[in-house]
Amino acid sequence: MDTETERKATAVEEMREWCVALPKVELHAHLNGSVRNSTLLELAKQLGCDKGVIVFEDVKDVIMKSDRSLPECFKLFDLFHILTTDHDTVTRIAKEVVEDFAAENVVYLEIRTTPKNNEAKGMTKRSYMDAVIKGLKEVEAVDVALFDSNFRTNETLNSKLLDGDAKKKKIYVRLLLSIDRRETASAALDTVNLAMEMKDQGVIGIDLSGNPVVGEWETYLPALQHAKNLGIPITIHCGEVANRKEIQAVLDFCPQRLGHVCCLNDVEWEKLKSLMIPVEICLTSNVMTGGAPSLELHHFADLYNAKHPLSLCTDDSGLFSTSLSNEYYLVATTFGLSKSELFQLAQDAVQFVFADDVVKKSLKEGFKHAEKRLLVWDELAAPN
Ligand SMILES: [Zn+2]
Repeated sequence: MDTETERKATAVEEMREWCVALPKVELHAHLNGSVRNSTLLELAKQLGCDKGVIVFEDVKDVIMKSDRSLPECFKLFDLFHILTTDHDTVTRIAKEVVEDFAAENVVYLEIRTTPKNNEAKGMTKRSYMDAVIKGLKEVEAVDVALFDSNFRTNETLNSKLLDGDAKKKKIYVRLLLSIDRRETASAALDTVNLAMEMKDQGVIGIDLSGNPVVGEWETYLPALQHAKNLGIPITIHCGEVANRKEIQAVLDFCPQRLGHVCCLNDVEWEKLKSLMIPVEICLTSNVMTGGAPSLELHHFADLYNAKHPLSLCTDDSGLFSTSLSNEYYLVATTFGLSKSELFQLAQDAVQFVFADDVVKKSLKEGFKHAEKRLLVWDELAAPN
């Protein structure tokens, strides 16, 4: 390598490391789509070789790939569906997903998942969620704050949270219950009622997600309206396909946050901006699923330049082979954001979390502390 190439490689490495060190807030992460590849491989092997439920060879290559096509992603979705009919697997996945996000300095994590009813497997929506919460409680690598704003250790989140020298990393975790677009109006209502029932156990909001070409807005509206009446915060996957009628209805409904907003026309775009609804931006996911033509042409730039409230998210970090640190890195390299702009972007996401003001205040303090370490020192170290 010549000196110039070496210098570039070092700069890339340094920026990647900085993005990992940056404290981050993750607001759009599906539990099943965030499973580690190694776990997926192990579980698929068990299902295939030991139990004969699937043909292991059919999914093996897809799991090993990092650049999956959309049909391959759907193949994995089918696998997730089979895997999550088992309570112990759900518990394991939940535990590992939190550990993985914490390992890359995510300090606040909202995980979304569809509570599943599967009579044949003795699974109810409630028992599924209990299995998820069991997993969060089993996390040992980091301290998890799940209930209100306190950690299991009774230590409140303080400046140490975001400090490199903290003995054990700490992370706030909250759960969003997803209504799947394949569900009936009554099943959707059950999910909202379950969210209400579990509001003291870390469940904090409702999401509408699933295959965007399936189902009708009118089916979920009564449940979403019920959630709104109960004061449960709502986020909706919006504009993954160009369904004009639904995009209009979603904007009129005015949820607390929106995911994606890919296929909006000029009028809808203006409406979104005037409503100032915070957007969960999922760069890699949108490019891989065709919601955005390329990273360079992603609507992030337009929203960012318009100072629209937004937050970078992964959507399905396992499925799309990304991480929240990588999404920040992509923004830096694609749109030329500086470190202080990236820091501001990460910090601004605190305003859009569904958790209470105590948590927000604690996160803001953490960011203030991290700023010294990540920006001030960095500027002092810079040659000019
Ligand atoms: Zn999503």
